[in-house]
Amino acid sequence: MMASTWYDAVVVGAGFGGLATALELSRQGARVALCESLNYPGGCASTFQRGGYAFEAGATLFSGFEPHQLFGRWIRELSLPVTVDWLDPVVELRTPTSRLAVHRDRARFIDSLCALPGAPAPAVRRLFALQSQVAGALWPLFDDPTLLPPLNVKALLRHAGRALHYPPLLRWLGRPLGAVLEHLGLTGFAPLRTYLDALCQITVQCSAAEAEAPFALAAMDYYWRGTGHVRGGIGQLAKALTGAVEAHGGTVLLANRVKAVTAIPGGWRVEARRGELQARHVVTNVLPRGLSRLLGASLESMPRMDTLSRSVESGWGAAMRYLVVRTPGDADGSAHHLELVDDVSAPFIEGNHLFMSISGEADAGRAPPGHRTVTVSTHVPLTTLASLPEAEQRAYVERVQARMDQGLRKLAPEWLEGLVQALPASPRTYQRFTQRDGGAVGGVPRRAGLANYRHLGPLQVREGLWLVGDSVFPGQSTLATAVGGVRTAASISARR
Ligand SMILES: Cc1cc2nc3c(=O)[nH]c(=O)nc-3n(C[C@H](O)[C@H](O)[C@H](O)COP(=O)(O)OP(=O)(O)OC[C@H]3O[C@@H](n4cnc5c(N)ncnc54)[C@H](O)[C@@H]3O)c2cc1C
Repeated sequence: MMASTWYDAVVVGAGFGGLATALELSRQGARVALCESLNYPGGCASTFQRGGYAFEAGATLFSGFEPHQLFGRWIRELSLPVTVDWLDPVVELRTPTSRLAVHRDRARFIDSLCALPGAPAPAVRRLFALQSQVAGALWPLFDDPTLLPPLNVKALLRHAGRALHYPPLLRWLGRPLGAVLEHLGLTGFAPLRTYLDALCQITVQCSAAEAEAPFALAAMDYYWRGTGHVRGGIGQLAKALTGAVEAHGGTVLLANRVKAVTAIPGGWRVEARRGELQARHVVTNVLPRGLSRLLGASLESMPRMDTLSRSVESGWGAAMRYLVVRTPGDADGSAHHLELVDDVSAPFIEGNHLFMSISGEADAGRAPPGHRTVTVSTHVPLTTLASLPEAEQRAYVERVQARMDQGLRKLAPEWLEGLVQALPASPRTYQRFTQRDGGAVGGVPRRAGLANYRHLGPLQVREGLWLVGDSVFPGQSTLATAVGGVRTAASISARR
């Protein structure tokens, strides 16, 4: 690579925020370089190889694949070599006393909830009617990011045309989903509470009682918005996107960690392992703390980054189990996603709640015939970790991992009978995998409050320096971070 090459934009990090920004900018004719530390793209939503097996690193189940949605559009318009398997059920929720299949057909799922013993069916249907209105108002903003801020006149007019969609959600702005459940008399219906606590924990990153209601009501559609399993692992989509960046003239530099970003006249200098680049715009796909390190500036000197960093650090790390198992005799060939909750009355964290994703027979290259690879995750509170002396942190994570093993054996015994090998990962290992400070994952927990609506636009930290990824709105899922990248690319293009 030539030293001091000038680009319109250098993107630091090939997570889905960075991938989306680099792809959209290169599609719009910008001269783009995408630098990624690791030798494969995707970050939290990647597939890594170990000992002849391929594991999904973190994210395993993705929305956005309907033809009109972002991932669906990319696959169609760019002829990406990516196949999506539509699973049914999408997810199965298991507790020691129950199993609830979340069917692809939303109405069928609601019927099955209403058919549970003691279900207050009319109130459950009222909840899902409200939920459908809110999701119907908010998901189109994901499908067409030009409807999100910053808004031009055309977008404002389109919002005016959609004005009737918004009143149901206005009433609940700044209030928790728990208040909606109370209002509808649903707090006592335990199976619904368990379902919502599990769903909120993996989407808006807190319990149903705490979750900002409009975000949580929209997130309740997660399983029904073009949601599927990427054949071969999500890394297939990440790789296809780097291929598309290159096909549009962009430069992808893997194994190229960026060490520093410095302001220079007319733009920015990016010092990376494989040389130096210069650009008018730099887009960093890192956490606020990572950005402060790249700039060599303290967080305290950047008040907005400091506040954002505190929100991220009030959230989560992930403890993981990557398993190789022999396929049980009676299992079908499809991939499976299970949510396991051991104690429904305890917080859905620290191994009490597990998201378990099992590869399918069609996932070529992930495991030899007769075997499957499995990714299991649980939330670990970063504040708890931070409060412990270093020596005790390890013991704490080991306890969480032991609880994960217990839960797996208790709630998914058929998959554990043929256990071949298990690899653990802690927030510390996760930090190595994804370069995320402290191993923080999941973005900003969306606990109820109007502060959630303070910053809805792309985040320009300084002139020509941008932050993308799941700490920036809309954040918090692979699709949402990609939507954020698309919006950032649009803002940069508007300035070019
Ligand atoms: C355990 C877990 C399970 C999840 N499950 C799901 C799920 O099922 N569905 C879903 O939609 N979402 C899920 N998510 C959320 C989703 O994966 C993330 O929100 C999203 O992938 C984050 O993308 P990002 O753009 O923030 O980048 P990241 O994934 O953080 O990627 C950043 C990239 O930048 C690179 N990088 C960092 N610093 C540098 C540097 N200095 N130089 C060069 N490169 C650098 C990193 O190596 C990395 O590749 C899950 C997340 C976790 C952790």
